[in-house]
Amino acid sequence: MSGRSITIATIAQCIRYGHRITAYCLNLDCRHSQELDLHALAERLGPDHSTLHKHLAPLLRCKACGGKRVQLTVHPDPRPAWKTAEERGGA
Ligand SMILES: [Zn+2]
Repeated sequence: MSGRSITIATIAQCIRYGHRITAYCLNLDCRHSQELDLHALAERLGPDHSTLHKHLAPLLRCKACGGKRVQLTVHPDPRPAWKTAEERGGA
């Protein structure tokens, strides 16, 4: 293995690593986008729920048009790596 990679597979991991998920409505007449409230999702679905598109997207609905065709984009932690490592401490 080379380098470090982290697997973001659950809502809890997204929160822990500071990742954010934005949902984009695929309805061309709408194109609404919304950052997901991961803490609310963790409460609703459980923190160990998968964040994979095939598992999460079917549960989401566009708040603007009610459409169920949703694209998910995961945004990595924008903080510098050294700071993240520092905060992670001995974990
Ligand atoms: Zn929409």
